[in-house]
Amino acid sequence: MSAAGNVYAVLLAAGAGTRMGENKLALTFGGKTPLRLCCDAFLQSERPPCTIVIAASEETRAEADALAAEDARIIPANGGATRGASVLAALRALRKNGAEEGVVAIHDAARCLVSPRVIDAAVRGAMEQGCGVAAIPMRDTVRNGAGAALPRDGLFLMQTPQAFCFRSILAAYEAAEVAGLFATDDLAVYMEAGHEAHFTEGSIMNQKLTYREDLPFFRAACGGEAPRIGFGEDTHALVAGRNLVLGGVSILHETGLLGHSDADVLTHAVIDALLGAAALGDIGAHFPDTDERYRGISSLMLLRETAALLRAEGFVPGNVDATVIAQRPKLAPYIPAMRENIAETLGIPVSCVSVKATTSERMNDEGAEKCMTARAVCTLLRGV
Ligand code: MG
Repeated sequence: MSAAGNVYAVLLAAGAGTRMGENKLALTFGGKTPLRLCCDAFLQSERPPCTIVIAASEETRAEADALAAEDARIIPANGGATRGASVLAALRALRKNGAEEGVVAIHDAARCLVSPRVIDAAVRGAMEQGCGVAAIPMRDTVRNGAGAALPRDGLFLMQTPQAFCFRSILAAYEAAEVAGLFATDDLAVYMEAGHEAHFTEGSIMNQKLTYREDLPFFRAACGGEAPRIGFGEDTHALVAGRNLVLGGVSILHETGLLGHSDADVLTHAVIDALLGAAALGDIGAHFPDTDERYRGISSLMLLRETAALLRAEGFVPGNVDATVIAQRPKLAPYIPAMRENIAETLGIPVSCVSVKATTSERMNDEGAEKCMTARAVCTLLRGV
């Protein structure tokens, strides 16, 4: 391929990501960081770039270095304080690495769902017309603050990549730097230098990861994440003079379960399943029976604390399925209330909580009414 046909890419990964509340480029989707997803898309495109410069910040530098170590075409560079400064630094890094002729596609790493097809269209646009900017037509009605609808015909939403003749965009950015005018996108800088816009086909999937609320969309687009599965089991002795509590429901019976808390064997099994799915230890580690705070406590309180702990770790319960093994009494009438208690405490729909009961056909200690056992499985999903 002649030098004139060279394709270069700039990935912008130096933004602060302040609207996300954390470094969004450190998240993974389908096991890949946004930078890796972008590099994959570019390298899978019709004309893979001979060089990809990643404009990185302190937070993203390590990931840029790791990608560069895997592929010689990838070069890390230090980004600047603004988007414009980062683009210019990356373009200069390209020039330093021998870029002269050809086209450069400039892309925000936060648009990590970009497809090779969208990249191909932008690069082709730049090769044929000097510039190719991924854009999609407005599909929603737009109104101003007073409620007046604005005409949307002929309006487009700008995306990236925005691809240009390398020399033209470098000159435009150098002029913008001198003038102290860095716009929010590359096309504005390019047009300021007297060039014309040319749009290419973007994609509704090519969204910019910006807010926490965007995460489910990005996760789903990358095939989602497998739920984590947990298992819990518990047994408590049946003795006279104790209340029988299962799933937070008090049940009239001549014996009750023995334990430090209310000895709610069903809720304990559910707690252990949830903690297990998150690999956070077991109920004894979190709520030790040597702690006076837990004497006689409703186990639903412990379940509530467990749910809060999981949420703090970024998990939400998906569903719970539990079985209580008890010879007597008949538990069927109490099961709807148990499901409601557990669901409400976990903050999930009742339809996601299953409680079943079985006898052990008079066998074992459960059958001899010496004890009750509960077993539970659950799934945990990554929360938002
Ligand atoms: Mg227990």
